[in-house]
Amino acid sequence: MNIILVGPPGAGKGTQANILEDRYHAKHIATGDMLRAEVAAGTPIGLEAKAVMDAGQLVSDGILIRMLGSRLGQPDCAHGMILDGFPRTVPQAEALNDLLAASGRHLDAVIVLDVDEEALVERISGRFACAKCGAGYHRSFHPPTQNGICDKCGGNEFSQRPDDNADVVRRRLVAYREQTAPILPYYAGRNLVYKLDGMAPMDEVTKAIENVLRQVGVAAPA
Ligand code: ADP
Ligand code: ADP
Ligand code: ZN
Repeated sequence: MNIILVGPPGAGKGTQANILEDRYHAKHIATGDMLRAEVAAGTPIGLEAKAVMDAGQLVSDGILIRMLGSRLGQPDCAHGMILDGFPRTVPQAEALNDLLAASGRHLDAVIVLDVDEEALVERISGRFACAKCGAGYHRSFHPPTQNGICDKCGGNEFSQRPDDNADVVRRRLVAYREQTAPILPYYAGRNLVYKLDGMAPMDEVTKAIENVLRQVGVAAPA
């Protein structure tokens, strides 16, 4: 199974990818996480990307396409992948086609999480993650079961992204509308687009995605 999750910042791409990755034995590939790891490690890519990310703009296609190209060649992607945050531009979508075709793979679906922009600022300002394992939470919509303790790893330190503030979110929304939304007509021309209601509760969104996957002939492994 190879799918893409598309949606503006805060739409729920990472949340859904985390749930689906275990159920479908597919690798969750989040280019935002990969870039943040480069920033944390202080690599040349990270040094170049940091200011762009902090400003809510898109990092260059060249960097992303090279980064994703080497990631897709790794063995843990062989059973399938859930792309979260890539492609974000038409040139990235075209490069992805070439990368998949070169390794005999194809896309099963492009799943769009449709959300109300007003709700995104609230979602993003309440978002935080476990500093140890990266598990994602929300202050009101998805707090840890036990206050201050990560459900997944028991960690007790959490972090918030520097670009998750109202100001930068608005700029990220502009980038989404102007640069990312144009990939949808590109994929619609290939009959791959499925639009779902991303405002529904998390478990309902998961069910809707699973319906699409059944429709395109992807079954969850038992
Ligand atoms: P994205 O990866 O698209 O930027 P996330 O998956 O990180 O978005 O979700 C953004 C925030 O909203 C997180 O704090 C998450 O817990 C919360 N969230 C995700 N899906 C829903 C939903 N369906 N309803 C309410 N809150 C949600
Ligand atoms: P979100 O989950 O809120 O949609 P991400 O974690 O996917 O955000 O991305 C954070 C930032 O990383 C983006 O604002 C952008 O600067 C950069 N980034 C991530 N993926 C890409 C990509 N495919 N192309 C260009 N920039 C990217
Ligand atoms: Zn954790």
